[in-house]
Amino acid sequence: MSKKLLERLNKGPVICAEGFLFEIERRGYMSSGEFVPMVSLEHPEALETLHKDFQHAGSDIVESFTYNGHREKMKVIGKEELIEPLNRAALKIARKVADLKSTGPKPNLMAGNISNSNIWNDKDKKTHLQVEKMFNEMIGWAVDEGADILIGETFYYAEEAYAALKAMKESKLPCVITIAPMGENIMRDGVSILDTCKELEQRGGDVVGMNCFRGPNTMMPYLKEIRKSLKCHVAALPINFRTTKEHPTFFNLPDNNGCSCHTPHKTPFPTALDPMQCNRYEIGKFAKEAFDLGINYLGVCCGANPMLIREVAEAVGLKVPASQYRENMENHFMYGQDIPKHMKDYGDKA
Ligand SMILES: [Zn+2]
Repeated sequence: MSKKLLERLNKGPVICAEGFLFEIERRGYMSSGEFVPMVSLEHPEALETLHKDFQHAGSDIVESFTYNGHREKMKVIGKEELIEPLNRAALKIARKVADLKSTGPKPNLMAGNISNSNIWNDKDKKTHLQVEKMFNEMIGWAVDEGADILIGETFYYAEEAYAALKAMKESKLPCVITIAPMGENIMRDGVSILDTCKELEQRGGDVVGMNCFRGPNTMMPYLKEIRKSLKCHVAALPINFRTTKEHPTFFNLPDNNGCSCHTPHKTPFPTALDPMQCNRYEIGKFAKEAFDLGINYLGVCCGANPMLIREVAEAVGLKVPASQYRENMENHFMYGQDIPKHMKDYGDKA
């Protein structure tokens, strides 16, 4: 099968696992809140394992973990001198895993990655130049380390997304660009979600869509509009949390689980979101619905784990290496088929 992203998307679904920040933190190799991907230098084996786990679960794209590995964030933690080694290490690990033969006839694509800078200020042009410089250096390293495609993601300013796309396009590699509007349901510089996506298509985005911040419930309505209006391939990578109309993103998601008062409690973000996670079937349903709309670039962002990536792949008809370990309730000790009656009857009371 081709290593060309667009050829593959024209033929069917392409799966991309994201959400490295949350999953590496959950595995104990990153500090939450600070969220700097030092793992590529400090525990490269842990990052390689996560990539392999996602690959085993069906991810066609190995996205190098350089999210937040940009100059501004490195300055904040006082380790600016490590920015290039960190980026190159992450890219090399991604390249190595993408080149493994474990996916059989379906070679993986290695993606370089840039993302929201958090210093972009629509009222301060100086920040735009700073951000453009950050994008350019990261893209340079990605090209250098052999990226097959580039992913620009999680932009909540329309203009920052446009700047990212412009910088990515200079590489001549296929470009995926996904936006992540905050809870106001509009880009922070006042452009609508749909208009931002239309503009990204006009400006040459090969795949345009949404990732992060929103769970299936609050991303799907926008995806429907986007799919209807755009001709290019569309991307859908929600977070794995039950966001609602009142709380469209995971930033202010309340949780009153375990409390008898009926006032929603503000949840410490992002370290106490666990009870609001979607189950695998909700994620599978989302993927199937998006695919049926004609969205072929699918994945999960924050909250993703290998089992959910397998669920996305299988929901759109793919068989992946991890499908071998899909749930098999027939052999369950209480809910299975050929089990003693005294255990089967006990199932409802257990
Ligand atoms: Zn995310």
